[in-house]
Order: sequence, then C-alpha cells, then structure tokens
Amino acid sequence: MGLHRSSWMDKDLDALADLARRFFEKECVPHEERWGKQQFVDRDVWRKAGELGLLCLSIPEEYGGGGGTFAHEAVVAIEQIRSMAPSFGGVLHSAIIAHYISSYGTEQQKRAWLPKMASGDVVSAIAMTEPGTGSDLQSIKTKAVRDGDDYVISGAKTFISNGHTADVVVVAAKTDPKGEGAKSVSLILVEADRDGFRRGRNLEKIGQHGQDTCELFFDDVRVPQSNLVGDVEGHGFIQLMQQLPQERLVLAVIAAASIEMSVDVTLTYTKEREAFGRPIFAFQNTQFVLAECDTISSIAWSFLDECLVKHLSGELDVPTAAKAKWWLTDQQVKVADECLQLFGGYGYMAEYPISRLYADSRIQKVYGGTNEIMKTIIAKSL
Ligand SMILES: Cc1cc2nc3c(=O)[nH]c(=O)nc-3n(C[C@H](O)[C@H](O)[C@H](O)COP(=O)(O)OP(=O)(O)OC[C@H]3O[C@@H](n4cnc5c(N)ncnc54)[C@H](O)[C@@H]3O)c2cc1C
Repeated sequence: MGLHRSSWMDKDLDALADLARRFFEKECVPHEERWGKQQFVDRDVWRKAGELGLLCLSIPEEYGGGGGTFAHEAVVAIEQIRSMAPSFGGVLHSAIIAHYISSYGTEQQKRAWLPKMASGDVVSAIAMTEPGTGSDLQSIKTKAVRDGDDYVISGAKTFISNGHTADVVVVAAKTDPKGEGAKSVSLILVEADRDGFRRGRNLEKIGQHGQDTCELFFDDVRVPQSNLVGDVEGHGFIQLMQQLPQERLVLAVIAAASIEMSVDVTLTYTKEREAFGRPIFAFQNTQFVLAECDTISSIAWSFLDECLVKHLSGELDVPTAAKAKWWLTDQQVKVADECLQLFGGYGYMAEYPISRLYADSRIQKVYGGTNEIMKTIIAKSL
C-alpha cells in the first residue's frame, strides 16, 4: 500500500518530507524507548531540529522562521507519525505556540523569542488548562494582578505539553478577575527562570510516554507588563479562539497520518502471520476489517486535504475545523482498535507499533478541545 500524497504537496514540500523523515529516523527513533522511560526528549534534539530548519517553518524569515505556510508544518507532523517517533513536541511549539507570538506579540516579543524558538534554543509551552477547569476556559482561576509596571501571577496549570522542558510558557490568566468571563482573560509570557515559577510532576500517561506533560505552579511570579502578548489586556480569549482552528487542524493531520499507519502496519503483519495454515490476511474478516479501515483512511485524507487547502487560503471556518478534529480523531481511535485486534496478543505488546498507535491515539479525542466541545461548536453553526 502506497502512502498518501496530498494534492497540496509540491516538489519543495516533497523535499521537506524527505528531510523531516531522515531527521525523525536518525535523531528520534533510536531514542524513543529511552525517552518513553525518562518521560521527555533530550534537549539536544531541539537544536538538531532547529539546525535543519524543521522548527517554526511557517514563521516569517525576518524572525528566524522558515517563511513557509501551514503546509510545511503539516508535512513535518505527517512524517513524524510515519516515522513512529511520537515524542518530540516540535509541532506544538512551531505550528501552535509560535503563532501566538507571531500573530499577536509585540515587535519586541517577536524579536526576543521567535529566532530562539526557530533555532531550538528555546522550548515553548502553552498553559490554559487548570486542575479545576479545562473545557470551560472562561472559568480559569490563574490571576495576573497589575503592580506598578509588573504583573504578579498566581495559580496552577496542569496537563501542559512540553511543560517539563519549556523555557517560556504562554499562560492564560485573568487580568481582570472580577470582569466578565471571556474579556477578563489575557495571554502572558512567563520565562521559566522567574522566581516563583515551579514545575510539578511530569505526569505518567497511558500513551505518548516520551512527550512531557507537566503541572506548573505560579507562586506570585512577577513579570514585566511588556510580557503581555499584544498591547491590550483582555484579548486572550479571542486570541485563543482565533488560533484554536489551526491547533485542531494539526490534530486532524496527526489523526489522518496515524490512521494510515495503523492500516499499513496491520497489512504487513496479517500477510506474514499464519493461523490454520494460512495468513491471517486470507480470512474474510481480516480483509473486511482492513477494507473498512482503508476506506476510512481515504475519506479522512480527502476531508483533511480539503480543510487544509481552505486553511491555506484563509477560508477554514471554526465549525469546519471542529468537524475535522472530532471526526478524524474518533476514526483514529476506532481504526487503531480494529487493527490491534488483528494482531491478537502481540497487539497488546509495547514492542509492536500498533500498540503505540493505539495508546497514543486516545488523547486525541480529549485535548485541543474535547470532541464533545467540537460538537457543541458545530451545533451552534447549524
Ligand atoms: C496529554 C495531554 C496534553 C495536554 N496538553 C495541554 C497543553 O499543552 N496545554 C493546555 O492548556 N492543556 C493541555 N491539555 C489539557 C486538555 O486540553 C484538557 O484535558 C481538555 O481540554 C479537557 O479539559 P478537562 O480535562 O478539564 O476535562 P473537563 O472539561 O472536565 O471535561 C470532562 C468531560 O466533560 C465533557 N464536557 C465538558 N463540558 C461539556 C459541555 N459543555 N458539553 C458536553 N460535554 C462537556 C468533556 O467533553 C469531557 O468528556 C492536555 C491534556 C492531556 C491529557
């Protein structure tokens, strides 16, 4: 089975795909098992990615980025899944967090952070979720209180990807704690070496073991007012809502590539493994299951490619991005489960790629806005 090549690919993107594939195979795959045990990737892999120009590909060149588009970020995400190297958090850093700074940051913030993010010298995280609230973002409790020319930030965040390794965190906080929900939220940059910033546990998860996911604590962390993302307080919620469609599309890209990989590794296995004197693939049930999964893969790519082309021309609306996120991630989990079954007991063994595709898939229905929240967004548009 050949791997899908999207209609929006061109020669440059093919070359990028080759480069990304070689990077993941050489610099990540050999370390995945160890990273899974230590629960984070080695720091030097960030710099290696930066040296190859694989970070911040869609950030303008004047800020050290690749000057490309979302298609460049998507290609890297796809090749990461195809290489079976899920731990490196570069896609979140480049396709999501860098865009908060690039789209809303002040000139000084862009110059201070983006070149270092592109070189891999700085690792970034975004902290919205708190122990008490995730989906209901307007109810966050983290406060940023003005004191002279500073903000004093207090609160706690949890489930923060790249949280253990991040040098800078984009924090969602209430700059007007008594104000109305959405208008009271701002995004503020917090450097990890500020007094009062503390990392909690690196959380143990059922999948994505090598990707660090952390609690963060802010005990009266003082940052200058110039760390506010943009010039105006109270725009954080709007900024999040504007960027979340791209984040959701990233998750849909990962889902499409993962569905394809589940089918691919299962085809190989079922043609080799024998039972009752014939390959597992010879049973009609196996053929039907794989026929269905491969059909899902084709439909997933079709819808994803359509969404991606719309996004590249600035036409992807919020409900359509929500449709892509919920449907593709739901299918990702379903296909991984169906395929794992065809491996029998081996499918449950960590050394078999299908077990990792299965375990890593489950969170996709939860983060980036749960799939239930996606359906509420779609329903509002009906
Ligand atoms: C591995 C991992 C990485 C993550 N990375 C990050 C990160 O980098 N930064 C970050 O800020 N967060 C991150 N998250 C947090 C993630 O985005 C949240 O877990 C998610 O948004 C859900 O929030 P919650 O866990 O508080 O669940 P809750 O909001 O408590 O939801 C619980 C259940 O209730 C349902 N529900 C809630 N509201 C509604 C509603 N209105 N209608 C119907 N159903 C509803 C939900 O769909 C869900 O099924 C990460 C989480 C994980 C596990």
